[in-house]
Formats: sequence, C-alpha cells, structure tokens
Amino acid sequence: MSHLPNLDHYWLPFTANRQFKSMPRLFKAAKGNYYTTIDDRTLLDGTAGLWCVAAGHGREEIASAVAQQLRTLDYAPAFQNSHPLAFEAAERLAQFMPQGLDRIFFTGSGSESADTALKIALAYHRVTGNPLRNKLIGRERGYHGVNFGGLSVGGIAGNSKSFGNGLAGVDHIRHPLDIARNAFTRGLPQDGGIALANEFEQRITTLHDPATIAALIVEPMQGSAGVVLPPVGYLKRLREICDKYGILLIFDEVITGFGRLGTTFASDYFGVVPDIITCAKALTNGAVPMGAVAVKREIHDAFMSNSPANAIELPHGYTYSGHPVACAAAIATLDIFTNDKLVERSAGLSGHFELAAHSLKGIPYVKDIRNMGLVAGIELEPTPGRPGARAFATYLKCYEMGVLVRYTGDVIAISPPLTIEKHEIDRIFSCIAEALTELA
Ligand code: PLP
Repeated sequence: MSHLPNLDHYWLPFTANRQFKSMPRLFKAAKGNYYTTIDDRTLLDGTAGLWCVAAGHGREEIASAVAQQLRTLDYAPAFQNSHPLAFEAAERLAQFMPQGLDRIFFTGSGSESADTALKIALAYHRVTGNPLRNKLIGRERGYHGVNFGGLSVGGIAGNSKSFGNGLAGVDHIRHPLDIARNAFTRGLPQDGGIALANEFEQRITTLHDPATIAALIVEPMQGSAGVVLPPVGYLKRLREICDKYGILLIFDEVITGFGRLGTTFASDYFGVVPDIITCAKALTNGAVPMGAVAVKREIHDAFMSNSPANAIELPHGYTYSGHPVACAAAIATLDIFTNDKLVERSAGLSGHFELAAHSLKGIPYVKDIRNMGLVAGIELEPTPGRPGARAFATYLKCYEMGVLVRYTGDVIAISPPLTIEKHEIDRIFSCIAEALTELA
C-alpha cells in the first residue's frame, strides 16, 4: 500500500464521508478503460468515471492540447473580453447539436448548465413580452445537478429536503418507471408513453394556467435516479404539448450527450428536438470541468433583437465560461469523437451490451434490468429496512474483484467508456453476477 494521505481535511461530495474514510478507495492513475488504485490494483472502469470519460482515460490528444493552451493563454476575462478558442469551441459544438440549436453558452458543469438553461427560459419569456410565464416543471426522479434551479426542478427528495426543497414556482410530473409492467424490457418500454405524457397536459391545465409555464425540463433518459427509460412516443408527445401551450422544452443531456445512447445526442435518438439542450461531462472527456447550453437560434436572436442597443442581453455568466483550457480540451475531445467514430462505435456495441446486461436475469436479487445504448441499470431487491445496502455491498465486491461499477439507491448503473471492448463488457456483467451470487 502506498502512502495514504491525511484524510481529515477533504469533505467529499455525495459521499458517506465517515464510511469512506474507514475504507478509502483512492485512484492514482488511469489509462484506456482502466484505473490504477494507490495500492497498485487495476480496475476496469464500468462507469466512465462519472459518466464522463467517454473516449477512455489518458488521451494524449487532450493532454497535449491542454498543456499547450496553459502555456499560451491560461485565462482570458470571460466578461467584455474573450479569446478565439471560445468561438471555435462553440462553432464545433454547434455542429454536434441537432440542427437549429447552434447558439452556445458555456458553463463550468452540468449543474451550471441546468441553472443557465432555466434562467434563459425565464428570461426569454420576459424579453418576448410574457413575464407571467415564470413557472418551471421538472419530473419525479429527475436529476439536474445541485444548484438551486436544478435542485428545484429535480425530483429526488433526498437531494432537496435538506435545503428547503428548493425554489417556489416549480412543479413536477410523474417519472416513467413502471417495473410491474415493464420489468426486464430490452430497450424502451413499448406501452403507456402517450398516456403518461398526457398527464403533463392534464397537470398544467387543471392545476396551473398553462400560460404561466415557462419550461419543462427532462433528461431524455434519467441516469442518476437509476436508469429510467422513456416509453416509446413519450418524449414526442411532451414536445407536442409544449408546442401547443408555448412552453419551452429543455433536454438535460449531461449524461445522454456525446454518443452514450448510440447517437450523438438523445434528441437524435428520439427524433425530438427540444428548444434548449444542456451538456457537460463527455464534452471534455471529463478532463477539464466544462458545461454548455445549446439554444435554438430564434431564442438567442429574440434576446438580441428585443434588448436595448448596448445592453447586456442576458445578465448571467461565470468567471470560467469559455475558459481557454476547457475550450482546448473540448475541441480535442470533439476531434477524438470524429476521428475515432465513437458514436458509431457506441451504436455498434449496444446489441452486445444489451445481451450481456440481460444475462443477469435470474441471478439472486435482480429485480429488473433496463438498458439503452451503452447504459444499463440493474435494480436489486433491497435488503429489508436498509435501502441501498445491497447495491453498496455489490459495488464493494465488484471493486474487490477489479471492476468499478456505480450504485444509486438499489440500482447498479453501468456506463463504460465508449472505447470499451466486448470482452470487457462481458467481464463487467459476469463480475456483477459473481458478486450477487456470493452475497446470496
Ligand atoms: N444533469 C444531469 C442529467 C446529470 O446526470 C448531472 C450529473 O450527473 C448533472 C446535471 C450535474 O452535473 P455536474 O455534476 O457536472 O454539476
């Protein structure tokens, strides 16, 4: 075991700190699809870090772009000044977005992207003469990061109840998970999508005045709350309802962007174009913090044409919006996506991945398996009275066996780098099977 640092001072995010510090799990290096721990063990990365290292670890192209940028221009003021790479990164990212969403606002994370998107939606209605459209709708089990806007439209009570449940003026619609009806479905559930989406219309027309709703925000596939997939037709119907009532539709694609589902964005997968898309994570392959919000050109242009000349059209932004080093990392990452055809690679592997994931049916405690692209959620029977304990024990066993998985509640979530090989996919799922069998 190499030297353990002093663990006292660092307060870890979203972590049971006392438990973690009693058995720390520290990484010291990463290359390709593998981590190395401080005690020199190798771990297969079944989670692409935190859904972010899509192109595999330790990419030289990103490292050298970042190093060169740091030596050339380490920082430029983000307000009232800029630098050419920010414009280039925006242009390049716009080419990855669905057609029409080609105006880009840079942020530092997925949480900042969510709050930025919500603020743009509210400000858009104000700038176009509809200041009464100021309510935001999210979904149960939604995760849009941890800042106040995202927290409020998010639908995970455990994340919001310590903070007064977030902002007022927010409502939520039902999540689409229905294990009783859809357990072990391969890919998207076939039924119930339209009826479920129609509940959105029912809610805004009976409990609200639809003319007061600014935006609906959804993750096309809910990742953090345990891999919840939309039934066929559901997202399309949400789009129709938003159009009918003049409500902006925001897709939070922080997880689903950049090939995770086998298409560039989930919007492409579903053939549904929202008004605003948020992204982060794989935008820089996780190497440098960065997020972005892509906005339909008409929305952007409404700010430009309706604001007084020389006025700041959107009083919003971050010191690190369009940071030169993050832009260099993003451009290098987008180059990798193109050169290595990572989206096509993800699509090509998804059939094998689906079979491997569903091979866990019948293994002890496996209650449901959900999959889409290179994402799988394996829902476990909880240990009575100890929610999450079974998934945590499974995670630890897999860790001991050399595979990094993620757990959220009693769901094991798998989202490997898109560079994963078939034999590595097999290893991830056989490791989970072995772990669960040992625990039984
Ligand atoms: N939105 C979604 C859908 C996410 O999955 C996440 C993080 O997992 C976020 C927002 C928040 O991103 P960040 O942790 O970079 O703030």
